[in-house]
Amino acid sequence: MSLESIPKDMRNARACLVCSLIKSFDQFEYDGCDNCDEFLRMKNNRDHVYDCTSSNFDGMIALMSPEDSWVARWQKINRFTKGIYAISVAGRLPPNFIREMKARGIPYRPRDTTFK
Ligand SMILES: [Zn+2]
Repeated sequence: MSLESIPKDMRNARACLVCSLIKSFDQFEYDGCDNCDEFLRMKNNRDHVYDCTSSNFDGMIALMSPEDSWVARWQKINRFTKGIYAISVAGRLPPNFIREMKARGIPYRPRDTTFK
């Protein structure tokens, strides 16, 4: 995929490493992640945005009706908010965030589905 083929606004798009939601860096910084901010706390925290999102992702799914979409079930995003989601997100969540999730009883599943 060449950079020129990406809409201008998508160039600083990032995907959440936990739920794969795609938003711009600024949106993550201003609003946090719609699904995960309870434990990722990206809101007003640029460091957390860098740690918990990745600019390296593949594929996009527009999630409109999470409850009755088989794609959403397949991607394990059927309990998430409506939005644009990546199919695969490269990168791994730093251990301190994984611990934080574990403490809340939330299993961390890496979103990187590319096999290298
Ligand atoms: Zn998220």
